[in-house]
Amino acid sequence: MKKIVVVGGGIVGICTAYFLQKSGFKVTIIDKEDPGTMTSFGHACTFADYASIPVNSPSLFSQIPAMLFKGDSPLAIDFFYLIKNLPWAFKFLKNCRKDKVEKIAKSLANFLKHSQLSYDEIFKEVNVSEYIKNEENIYLFDSKKAYDEYKYATLIRKKNNVKVVELSKNEIHDLEPNLAPVYYSGQLFVGSRHTTNPLSISKKIFENFLLRGGKYIKENVKNVSQKENSIELSLENKRIECDEMIICAGAWSNIIANMVGENFPLDTERGYHVLFETDQQLINRPIAWSESGFYLIQIEDGIRAAGTVEIAGLNKPPNNQRTNMIERQSRKILPQLGKVKSTWMGRRPTLPDALPIIGRSEKNKNILFAFGHQHIGWTLAAVTGKAINELIKGNKPNFDINDFSPNRFK
Ligand SMILES: Cc1cc2nc3c(=O)[nH]c(=O)nc-3n(C[C@H](O)[C@H](O)[C@H](O)COP(=O)(O)OP(=O)(O)OC[C@H]3O[C@@H](n4cnc5c(N)ncnc54)[C@H](O)[C@@H]3O)c2cc1C
Repeated sequence: MKKIVVVGGGIVGICTAYFLQKSGFKVTIIDKEDPGTMTSFGHACTFADYASIPVNSPSLFSQIPAMLFKGDSPLAIDFFYLIKNLPWAFKFLKNCRKDKVEKIAKSLANFLKHSQLSYDEIFKEVNVSEYIKNEENIYLFDSKKAYDEYKYATLIRKKNNVKVVELSKNEIHDLEPNLAPVYYSGQLFVGSRHTTNPLSISKKIFENFLLRGGKYIKENVKNVSQKENSIELSLENKRIECDEMIICAGAWSNIIANMVGENFPLDTERGYHVLFETDQQLINRPIAWSESGFYLIQIEDGIRAAGTVEIAGLNKPPNNQRTNMIERQSRKILPQLGKVKSTWMGRRPTLPDALPIIGRSEKNKNILFAFGHQHIGWTLAAVTGKAINELIKGNKPNFDINDFSPNRFK
């Protein structure tokens, strides 16, 4: 059986390794960190099958000045970083045209349709029911203006068969009585679910992979070379060889792709969370707050407020202004929140057209890619793993991944 290396043990790498191991391949995950502890750890916990609308949007153009100069808008841009990365910014803006946005939403919606079933294949075997809740996610609009501005996104969602229920102020109060009445109206996404402990889910799938004979090496991948019919990886202390390699290194994937002469316009949308203490059940479901672009979720450790976007690259230290804004806004919606327990920053892997890269390299025949899942990598990990498993077996997945081709930026 083929020897396969999965570089990156985030949720995408873990699910990919799970499906490959189940197919009988000899699989090794290499990650310099403990699996599931990077971006896949601190997110907003939603299995967001409805979230096909990209950050790219026709209305973004008019909002850019505020993003550059107001640190507490839902989307903030570091001016100096932007100047250094203008080609990426132009590619991103090109994808803000109406026709592009609708095409992106359609591709993502078609893929998202398979996300729940793909996870359920894993969950049939890996019991994570204690960490999954079926109370459906809601989105709160702070004003009529925000609601009206969102109409276009709602229309696209509905066009892609997402079931959205409009909620009045009273209906929101009935569902979530502890929220301060600072909202105008809301929407509920039918059939959505969430987790109360993402790390435990990642760990359980990873442990199942090990139990079936999967291997894990905790090391940094320093170099990769394509041999005639195999791949050689240089780690800190050793070299290993495999038949095929999959790059699932999230926001760091392009660094590894560069090692074999490939290059993708991958950047990162940094996001933050603030974890609040609480000793009571304050909310029942993930609650998105339109004014600030984050979700409040009651998890096992407390209440997590997670989201927002900051374009400032991989390496800049976390920006306290962002977590202070999240804290302030969270307390406005849920005044009963306790003390802040911790804060966190994560790096969403994002391509300028908001679509992931899933497929085989044209240049290095033994290398496949699975990264760039932006805001919905937690949701799309299992279906991505299934797609890669089919490609390695030499089959065509029974869902369309053409729009995620690694060659689309050439
Ligand atoms: C604030 C926030 C909220 C979010 N909310 C949601 C949500 O509600 N729902 C949703 O679906 N998605 C959400 N997301 C997006 C989601 O978290 C990501 O898309 C997803 O976690 C990406 O997973 P990954 O496996 O690609 O990357 P990661 O989890 O980052 O894993 C990549 C791994 O590669 C490893 N690696 C990198 N370089 C090397 C190297 N050289 N050698 C060895 N290992 C290496 C890293 O150590 C890391 O473990 C959110 C993201 C953020 C930041």
